[in-house]
Amino acid sequence: MAALEIVLVPALSDNYVYLLHDSASNTTAVVDPADDAPVEAALAARGWTLTHILNTHHHHDHIGGNDALKAKYGVPIIGPRAETARIPDMDVTVGDGDTYDLDGHVAQVFDTPGHTTGHIAFYFADSQALFCGDTLFALGCGRMFEGTPEQFWTSLKKLRALPAATRIYCGHEYTAANAAYAVSIDGGNAKLQARAAEIKRLRAADQPTIPSTLGEELDTNPFLRADDPSIAAAVGKAGADPVTVFAAIRAGKDNF
Ligand code: ZN
Ligand code: FE
Repeated sequence: MAALEIVLVPALSDNYVYLLHDSASNTTAVVDPADDAPVEAALAARGWTLTHILNTHHHHDHIGGNDALKAKYGVPIIGPRAETARIPDMDVTVGDGDTYDLDGHVAQVFDTPGHTTGHIAFYFADSQALFCGDTLFALGCGRMFEGTPEQFWTSLKKLRALPAATRIYCGHEYTAANAAYAVSIDGGNAKLQARAAEIKRLRAADQPTIPSTLGEELDTNPFLRADDPSIAAAVGKAGADPVTVFAAIRAGKDNF
């Protein structure tokens, strides 16, 4: 089976919505529809018909288009079981260790609490693609609205264990701001400096910085390196456990 064709659809001020398409089965899923209008436009431009809605978490900028799209296309909503009370009208709920068969493309589901308590990520091994909502960002991670540092670090470790070639499709274009913060704590990292320069070039040309690969994130994203002694030292937590280091990295970004 061919890999899913993945289309990035900018929405609201800095959200990314994704269309996942398989022309053989006429499957077109949308991940985290912030808003229905840009999704409709992206579908119409390609002559595609929506077949599924996938949600990573309950925030309005990830489910705002659910109602209108479900009403128009009569498609199922698949989302996090732990947020059943907070996402209306889900048809299929999933959690850690579950799989969801998207017309032959099997997604593995991970619980990734931290940004919200019920946040999930969808990993399509056959397409080398991870849809991680607001858990892992290019060069960053989501704000810790509902979870603890221990939960968030555990979530990131799960995602970190995926193959290095995995493409990271996250929920927002926050990469330039994330790069500035990453450089402030890991400025001696030549790979990070090169990546930050490329990000500047892309954003100046109004181009997306998404997707990155997990391999790039492992080399340059400080939030995935809370167990790296050099990062611990850089945030003033030399010798501390990774959860404490992660909490310091996160707090540093909140105040950057
Ligand atoms: Zn969110
Ligand atoms: Fe968001």
